[in-house]
Amino acid sequence: MRTDYSRSVRLGGLAAGVDESTLRERMEGSQVHLTADGHLPAVAETLEVLVADLRRWPVRLSLDPGRGPGRLDDALVRKLAETAAGIDPDRPLRIGEVLGEGPLRLHVGTEPLPDVAVAGAPDGHGTRLRHAGHPFPRLNAPGTGLGAVLTAAMLAGEAFKVVAGLPEGKFQVTPVVDFCPVLPGEQPGTAIAPPPALERVLLGGGGAIGTGVALILDLLRVSGKLTVVDREVFEKPNVTSYSTGTLADASALLPKVRLIAARLRRIKVIPFHGTIQDSIEAVDTGTLPWPRTVLGGLDSIDARHDLQRLQADLTLDGSTGGPVGTTVALHEALPTGPCLRCYYRANHTEKSAEQRLHELTGLPLARIARGQEPLTEKDLECLGDQQRELVQQFLGRPVCGLINSAELSGGTDDAFRPSAAFVAQQAACLVVGAWIARSTGLVNGPMRRIEYDTRFGPRPDQMTDYWTPTPGCTCQKDPGLISHVRETRRTIS
Ligand SMILES: [Zn+2]
Repeated sequence: MRTDYSRSVRLGGLAAGVDESTLRERMEGSQVHLTADGHLPAVAETLEVLVADLRRWPVRLSLDPGRGPGRLDDALVRKLAETAAGIDPDRPLRIGEVLGEGPLRLHVGTEPLPDVAVAGAPDGHGTRLRHAGHPFPRLNAPGTGLGAVLTAAMLAGEAFKVVAGLPEGKFQVTPVVDFCPVLPGEQPGTAIAPPPALERVLLGGGGAIGTGVALILDLLRVSGKLTVVDREVFEKPNVTSYSTGTLADASALLPKVRLIAARLRRIKVIPFHGTIQDSIEAVDTGTLPWPRTVLGGLDSIDARHDLQRLQADLTLDGSTGGPVGTTVALHEALPTGPCLRCYYRANHTEKSAEQRLHELTGLPLARIARGQEPLTEKDLECLGDQQRELVQQFLGRPVCGLINSAELSGGTDDAFRPSAAFVAQQAACLVVGAWIARSTGLVNGPMRRIEYDTRFGPRPDQMTDYWTPTPGCTCQKDPGLISHVRETRRTIS
């Protein structure tokens, strides 16, 4: 079983404006070299996430444990090598001094050598990044698991600009980054409130963002109970775009909820293998506890509307998207509005997948409806030359397979969506940061939408909007019904 780099390479290709094979060659020709200060708080957590994120690209990767008092201990180095091998056994993490010309050098710590391009260190729940020539200030607080994941994800983001070869104007190098996802306007290390234990919290979606949320909760050493809802199994392409899971997990086709439960060592997980709609029904029959806080990592508008129908006290929705899949966002939602329907309007004008396939291939809708029947020469007879050429390559395959084909779906199907762990992790940091802020009273007041493009980095002064309910939204038209539903669920559970 070989590692499938298709999704991370797709995102890189889109961002760099080159085809996927060019991007893959570019990455295979790149080398990233890591060093770290073994004394830095949360260095092990930061390196664990950073090594995994970089291993999710087909680059050459090496780590120098260093020497003297700040040397990384052997057990940690072994663990990092195992982490890399779990993602791609054919591309081991090379341990030792750097070989060859011109690798990109990254450092975890505040005192990098002069040849290091970018260094980063967690400061409390936040991060500080410095490009060469820009010294670090004194850190305010020991790094936490949230600070560690954010530092790793943003260092990987800096590496991405170089190894993907993003063209001028499509990214920005910010030599000094100070960012805290708990208090986005404040200096990192100011917010140091430990997260509370999870109680009546539900994680909706165990994909790229959901596994990122799980990774952060685990590294933050959060305890308590968490319901996790997802209907899919963990597959090979997920290994290079999710935050947890190995090639071995993918061959076992584990349900994603099981994968997350295995990762959360201090949390009692209630795995729910089904849709959000199924979980709502389970809440209403009393078989699943009604969540008061919902953390969302979903990828469709419909699923988000379902998530809102859980009518929790607070819903924190994470998303990735934008023109090339590098934009991250948080939406904070209330049952009284703004709700997730206020943020995400339903798009009723969108064409069905069958309709799009019909327009693209010329195959009659009635034929597309017989999805399981393989395409034959006879199906080509009614098509024009160009359409025949397109469909010919799929002879022998069932029609329904074409709906999910990258060439035909225009990249709208999840299986072909660009995705990278370092992007999804930054969305997950916004979600967990907001959860800490709201559950400890650090942030009160209006619901926020926070959004930035990871190619340009967070801009604390211009990435937050405060939202009010949308007039005419269900949350405004049926407040009585919503409060009745909430009251009923409160009595059931
Ligand atoms: Zn609404």
